[in-house]
Amino acid sequence: MTVGCLALNASYEPLTMVPLKRALRLVIDGKAEIVEADASRAVRAARLSVPHPVVIRLRTFVHVPRRFRRQVTNTFLFARDGYRCQYCGRPNDALRPRESLTRDHVIPISRGGLNVWTNVVTACSTCNTRKANHLVSECGMQLLTEPAEPHFVHLSWAVRRLTPTQARYIRLFYGETVVRELARNDRLRAS
Ligand SMILES: [Zn+2]
Repeated sequence: MTVGCLALNASYEPLTMVPLKRALRLVIDGKAEIVEADASRAVRAARLSVPHPVVIRLRTFVHVPRRFRRQVTNTFLFARDGYRCQYCGRPNDALRPRESLTRDHVIPISRGGLNVWTNVVTACSTCNTRKANHLVSECGMQLLTEPAEPHFVHLSWAVRRLTPTQARYIRLFYGETVVRELARNDRLRAS
């Protein structure tokens, strides 16, 4: 699995994972500096030999639009919920062959619900079909967790594996709890 490069804002806030090629472009263009490199590897880019970047830092502070950060996608939604149906609690690998994980709107769209993080949960197709256009309270179902907007860094790590060096920067900025939660998700995804 290819590991991306962790991009930090000028403030050292972890922003996102970027593909290696894009990280190199930012460095060569002088828009970012390499904070951590993999000493055992070098990459050739634009006729230069550059250390293989693992963590880069943008030279100027970038304001990341909130709208961009908040977009709901199934990839990120399933990662937020630990790849587990939030009604019956079954993880992805316990689903039957014809079942799959889906996006469920807690308050159905047809009843004015919005496609926002606080109104979407991961549901297996069976639970989603059963719930249909009902509210949770109307069909005797129960949510395992209240949906909340996940931290952007949770999401970018949830879908890309981090190296221990990169994890150190996440920990510096967000603390140990976030790192542990993400490692848990990573294991769930791998299983
Ligand atoms: Zn279910």
